[in-house]
Amino acid sequence: AGTMSPFEHGETFVTNDGGELDEDFGHYERFLGIEMNRDQNITTGQIYYSVINKERKGEYLGKTVQVVPHVIDEIILRLQKLENQHEPDFMLIEVGGTIGDIEGQPFLEAIRQLIRQRPESDSLIVLVTYVPFPFHLQEHKTKPSQHAVRELRAAGLVANLIVCRSEKAIDIKTLAKISFFSDVSENAVLNLPDLDTVFKAPLHLNQQGLGDLLEKMLHLRFENPKWREVEEIIDRISSAKGKLIIGVPGKYTDGLDSYISVNEALKHAAWQEGWGVDLLHIATEELEANRSAVSILDKVDGVLVPGGFGDRGTEGKILSIKYARENKIPFLGICLGFQLAVVEYARSILGLKDASSTEINATTSHPVIDLQPDQVDVTDKGGTMRLGSYHIMLEPDSIIQRLYGRTEIHERHRHRYEVNPDYFDKLQDGNLSFSGFYNNLVETLELDQHPFFIGVQYHPEFKSNPWNPTPTYLGLIRAAIDRAENKSRESNV
Ligand code: GLN
Repeated sequence: AGTMSPFEHGETFVTNDGGELDEDFGHYERFLGIEMNRDQNITTGQIYYSVINKERKGEYLGKTVQVVPHVIDEIILRLQKLENQHEPDFMLIEVGGTIGDIEGQPFLEAIRQLIRQRPESDSLIVLVTYVPFPFHLQEHKTKPSQHAVRELRAAGLVANLIVCRSEKAIDIKTLAKISFFSDVSENAVLNLPDLDTVFKAPLHLNQQGLGDLLEKMLHLRFENPKWREVEEIIDRISSAKGKLIIGVPGKYTDGLDSYISVNEALKHAAWQEGWGVDLLHIATEELEANRSAVSILDKVDGVLVPGGFGDRGTEGKILSIKYARENKIPFLGICLGFQLAVVEYARSILGLKDASSTEINATTSHPVIDLQPDQVDVTDKGGTMRLGSYHIMLEPDSIIQRLYGRTEIHERHRHRYEVNPDYFDKLQDGNLSFSGFYNNLVETLELDQHPFFIGVQYHPEFKSNPWNPTPTYLGLIRAAIDRAENKSRESNV
């Protein structure tokens, strides 16, 4: 997903080993608390790439190279490799897309063959199907699900379990109809309607007997399921004191999924502190056209400027950062948000009027953010950034070090540009200090004489889950709570 625009496919999720994966991997990590890695994301491109390489090396010994068996075998090989490497108790294979997609066919065939090689009770097929509720008809329609079951059969696979996704709860009669036409027993047709939080989904499915079904169908025994932990989070969400408003000036404001890990990490931190959170997405290009509109930030309890690429909307982000700095609104800058905080400071405080990042202005006379020498000659866009987990040393007693409670941390990266060492001293003359480093690369900045102003070159949101919110986001949320509580005190006086 590394070269794709968030408009195409939502967020790019980064793993410790530097994989740039589909955002769904973020959900797997957040739910399971186990580390995903790049090999677990198998794409058609990777499969064809290695089949072609093998052919060029003569590994097919002169045979005609075909989808069946060579492409299929390559998919099976990758799945088996993962199995040997991780020796899992349970392997969950999600085939992306929709049944009937041309792209999905080789993967379904690979799964069919894999299942054949195993004892019968070793595998289980779950069909997730969407059950629409057309507004003018006011009833759930089951035809798409019936067709999905049939398409799956055409690929040689029979659903053992059906999960019906829907906006609202589906009545028993409709579920029975799906059961009848799909030959899946009634107790194995489950409904998963939209819920106010995705963390309710496991409980909701289990109430319909999913756990028992899996145990029976796969001859497994689940020891100590962690329902308490899930219920605890749901209790916290429903007993929140109030909602904080966090302003997110960004450019991908149309696609809700573009910043999904950021949105999630803000919620996790707020829940831990007994609050909920509402995000106020601000389209920074619109701020550029109407600069005084930035005062909308008076309404928010905190500002988070997320990562991004290219120059579109950056001046509006800089304007928002300036407003947060001058008006003492809690601020957290992530990656590009961190870089632009450096740019804003150089312009406003050091008086370097055209200071910029060379990503935004290649001919700036003050490139405070610039490419590292090892990036200058890189022309390929795919997989060539500083990616994945790096260790970072934090200055003892800095704000960020106190947030983490440690001096060495590991966080994930996805960027090309860095703070230019030529400006280190100048930038740190006043209130700003760089407080975290990977070797001599700057990882964090903080301002004193401000309630909370932190920027990080890395992406803490990729390691957040409800049970373990990330310290930087917690810092922002705590400062936002102070601001919200002060405001309400003032308005009561
Ligand atoms: N575009 C910036 C860089 O490449 C920041 C990237 C990001 O925000 N993820 O360095």
